[in-house]
Amino acid sequence: MKDTKALKDFLQSPKKIVITTHANPDADALGSSLGLHHFLTRLGHKVSTIVPNSYPDFLEWMPGNSMVINYEKSKDASDKLILEADLLFCLDFSGFGRIKGMRDVAEKTPAKIALVDHHLNPEIKPDYNFWNDHSAATAELIYDLIIDFSGKNAIDKDIAECLYAGIMTDTGSFKHPSTTAKIHRIVADLIDLGADVNKVSRLIYDTNSLQRLRFLGHALAERLKVDESYQVAYFVIGEEDFKDFRLKQGDTEGLVNYALSIKGIVVAAIIIQRENEIKLSFRSIGDFAVNKFAEEYFNGGGHKNAAGGMSELSLEETEKKFKELLEKNILNTRIK
Ligand code: 5GP
Ligand code: MN
Repeated sequence: MKDTKALKDFLQSPKKIVITTHANPDADALGSSLGLHHFLTRLGHKVSTIVPNSYPDFLEWMPGNSMVINYEKSKDASDKLILEADLLFCLDFSGFGRIKGMRDVAEKTPAKIALVDHHLNPEIKPDYNFWNDHSAATAELIYDLIIDFSGKNAIDKDIAECLYAGIMTDTGSFKHPSTTAKIHRIVADLIDLGADVNKVSRLIYDTNSLQRLRFLGHALAERLKVDESYQVAYFVIGEEDFKDFRLKQGDTEGLVNYALSIKGIVVAAIIIQRENEIKLSFRSIGDFAVNKFAEEYFNGGGHKNAAGGMSELSLEETEKKFKELLEKNILNTRIK
């Protein structure tokens, strides 16, 4: 990794470091942040991990969870930490638009910036760059960084489980095209270093509430729309579903994959209304680049086959816009 030496020189003496990640943190965002947090703390630095907003309960088992600062709940203290930091690590995002309310202070801080990310088209211009869009997960990049810095022995069970969680989820449990031989070798190392893969998998995937499973049945039966002529399937989830099923943050995660699992479907989406915003998630198989689609029409981005964005229209208008745009965009790139 090309900037390792420069960063290592900078970190020769103890530094004040803030780690942050994108809003609505997922397992890769939080796992890579906490894995790095433990590593840097053990090197003798003063480390704070600040997330832009809350994350789902099924990530709370991660070692170091109690140290994580939620920016929305501790704005003043967070601003102070960020403004006084020597180094700000930006993990699993590469545009300041992804950290919501933290954007201003992140752009203002005199701290040096280190970017560790695997999303396309990075906007941030870092002092230390560990960006690589061929990586399956930011946790893979953190693994590489730790190895470059200190070798395998620096990875203990806590770090191994945080990084494993990021890799497992961002590869779709080792199913996405990003699942390389290298990823399996890294995971083999993480297991050797103490990661309990069965435990991590159960904590993330097998902690459903009954309400969530009932909602899944309801969404599949009532909220899934399929347009075979465009090979598209999508869910539209309104606020009433959140109320009726007492859904919590994270309860809609993974739902979009059911739409993509239908035979013949190559583009899947979910359009969700939550409070005052509409969030969209896109998935595709093959050539249709959902990150470009999300970036151009829904103020978003992501990866070629998994992306997300926002809409300021109503739920109905957003669905209409989505359908019209598909007609325009999808015909040329459809898989036969
Ligand atoms: P998900 O659909 O699981 O929320 O996100 C899928 C991928 O798209 C992730 O890599 C995520 O970082 C990215 N993504 C999701 N929402 C947004 C967004 O609003 N803006 C950008 N730039 N990327 C997003
Ligand atoms: Mn990621």
